Amino acid sequence: MSVSKLEYIWLDGYKPTQSLRSKTKIEKDFSGKLEDLPNWSFDGSSTEQAPGGSSDCVLKPVFVVKDPQRKDAYLVMCEVLSSDGTPHPSNGRALIQDDDNDFWFGFEQEYFLWDTKTNKPLGFPPGGFPGPQGPYYCSVGAYNAFGRSIVEEHLDACLDAGLNVEGINAEVAAGQWEFQIFAKGAKEAGDQMWVARYLLERIGEKSGVAVNWHCKPLGALDWNGSGMHANFSNGILRTANSKETFEKICEAFRPVVKEHIEVYGADNHLRLTGKHETASIHDFSFGVSDRGASIRIPLYAVQHNWSGYLEDRRPNSAADPYKVAARIVKTVKSAVI
Ligand code: ADP
Ligand code: MN
Ligand code: MN
Ligand code: MN
Repeated sequence: MSVSKLEYIWLDGYKPTQSLRSKTKIEKDFSGKLEDLPNWSFDGSSTEQAPGGSSDCVLKPVFVVKDPQRKDAYLVMCEVLSSDGTPHPSNGRALIQDDDNDFWFGFEQEYFLWDTKTNKPLGFPPGGFPGPQGPYYCSVGAYNAFGRSIVEEHLDACLDAGLNVEGINAEVAAGQWEFQIFAKGAKEAGDQMWVARYLLERIGEKSGVAVNWHCKPLGALDWNGSGMHANFSNGILRTANSKETFEKICEAFRPVVKEHIEVYGADNHLRLTGKHETASIHDFSFGVSDRGASIRIPLYAVQHNWSGYLEDRRPNSAADPYKVAARIVKTVKSAVI
């Protein structure tokens, strides 16, 4: 007989930003397969997901990987269902209409490593500020790179778990970093991103370092905010061979700016100012290689005879990749080509 630790992970019901929750279930002789994972329940009245009088919510496993850092353990990403078995209103994954995995997503997750004692990013002296932005992006050396051991441990953990992480880099602000995750299938991309976020949070716990997902944690000061650019394609984009098709799909985003911004992360007006390689939250624009546009058409697509993918640069670091993907899938499918 073997005993496994199953870490059931889900998103709580806090608004406007949901957080990760998890608890451990001990299971005997678990096969390692998703279909053998039982549903479980939790107290939704403690997570803003149910009233106290009928507090049970259901955890439905949807994605499982081996826990890269604990013996005989698995990480089990779950959807939250209401007690009647329907998707809970906080369940963004259930909104994704991509059952044939036609949509591929690459998310570029930026974040700050945050010192819980100083309540500042790593690398910020307690009473003030480090030197201005410039030397930190892709930096090397102890004067400019802060928290590398955590970032490296996170990368190894993601790879050991089998997540499709594509790279990491130090970002423009001190204490700010990025990792990228790519997956074929909108749901799987969201699952992988949430498990990667979970691993980063858990690794930081060991040294009292939190992850600050807010898109503008240093406010209006002249420090970069954090984004989560969403690169996406479907079969039509990947095989378009047509500038017109790319433009029609981009144009489908124009009338639904509000609906997209609603799920692109809290406080995005602080980040989408038109400065720091962003477009204004009030505008909609697209352009080849344009990092000041809402949607960038990568040079890759032009060089491949107008086939490839698009980059929506507006989602921020705190956005739920499930909701971002669900909205993008919906808009792309609405384009009349
Ligand atoms: P940037 O120049 O914006 O920093 P990156 O190289 O960091 O670009 O990220 C580009 C992203 O695009 C990667 O995450 C990659 O996985 C993703 N990507 C590449 N091809 C496709 C595709 N066909 N569909 C969806 N995403 C893609
Ligand atoms: Mn990038
Ligand atoms: Mn970046
Ligand atoms: Mn990008």
